[in-house]
Amino acid sequence: MGNRNLENQIAIVTGAGSGIGRELCLSLAKRGAKIMVTDINEKGIEETKKLIEAQNGYAETYKLDVVDSDMVKNVMDEIYKKHNRIDILISNAGISTPPSLATKMPEEHWDKLLKVHLYGTFNCVKACGEYMKANNYGRIVLSSSLGGVFGFAGNVNYAVAKTGMVGMTYTLAKELGPYGITVNAVQPGIIRTPMTKDALKAFEEGFIKETPVRRIGEVDDVSNAIAFFCMPESSFVTGVVMRIDGGYILQSSMDQIMMDVCSK
Ligand code: NAP
Repeated sequence: MGNRNLENQIAIVTGAGSGIGRELCLSLAKRGAKIMVTDINEKGIEETKKLIEAQNGYAETYKLDVVDSDMVKNVMDEIYKKHNRIDILISNAGISTPPSLATKMPEEHWDKLLKVHLYGTFNCVKACGEYMKANNYGRIVLSSSLGGVFGFAGNVNYAVAKTGMVGMTYTLAKELGPYGITVNAVQPGIIRTPMTKDALKAFEEGFIKETPVRRIGEVDDVSNAIAFFCMPESSFVTGVVMRIDGGYILQSSMDQIMMDVCSK
C-alpha cells in the first residue's frame, strides 16, 4: 500500500490532533491525499499539519467541535467551496469519561460522551454526505471499538456509542451505496494513544498476555486498515466492521489452559 493511490483526494479527518487521527492523517497524506486536519484541540491540529508537511504532504487545519452542528456545517461548506469535492471522511473524534458502573454514572458523563461520538459522527456525515452524493463518490469510515462488540464494564456510555456506530455504518452503507459512497467502520482493541495511557500504565502486561499476537496495538495498525477502506479500489467493500485487536476478543481462559496442556 505504499503507492499514491489517493493523489489529490480531499480527506477530512476529525480528532486529527492526536493519537489515531494524527497517524491516519500522515498515512493518507503519504498516499497523496490533501488532508483537512480537524479537531477541537487547536494546538494538536497545528502539530499534525507540521508533521504532514515534514513528509512533503498537503494539509489545511480547521478548528472543529463535532458536537456543534452549525460549526460542522460551516467547516464542511468551506472545504467543499474551496476544493469542489470531499472524497474521504474519517469520523474519529472521541473522548472517554472516568469509569463508573451504569447505576452510578453521572448523567453529564452519559450526555457528553454520546454527544461527541454519536451526535458528532451524525453531524459530520450529514454535512459531507450530500457533497459526496453530488460527486457520486465517497469513502466514509467510522470509529467503533471492541467496546461496541461485547459491552464495556464501567463504560456503558462508551459501549452504547460504539455499538451505535455499527448501526450507523450498516444504515449509511445502504443509503449511500447507490451514490458510489462506501461506509465502513473499524473496531480497535486497545491501541497505544493518549486516551489509553493510564490504562496501559496499569494493565499493559495483562493485555499483552491475553492478546494472541502478544503485543499492544499501535496507531498504524488502525491507520493501515482505514487506508484500505479509503482506496478507490475498495469500491465493493461497504458495511464492513473490521476488528483490529490482535485477536484479543477470541481469547478465553479455556484456550490458554488447552494451549498449556498441549504444549507439555
Ligand atoms: P485521542 O488520542 O484522545 O484523540 C482524540 C482526539 O479527538 C483528541 O485530539 C481530542 O481532543 C479530539 N476531540 C475530543 N472531543 C472532540 C470534539 N468534540 N470535536 C472534535 N475533536 C474532539 O484518542 P484516540 O485513542 O486516538 O482515539 C481516536 C478514536 O478511536 C476515538 O473515537 C476512540 O474512541 C477510538 N478508539 C480508540 C481506541 C484506543 O485504544 N485508543 C480503541 C478503540 C477505539 P482533546 O485532546 O482536546 O480532547
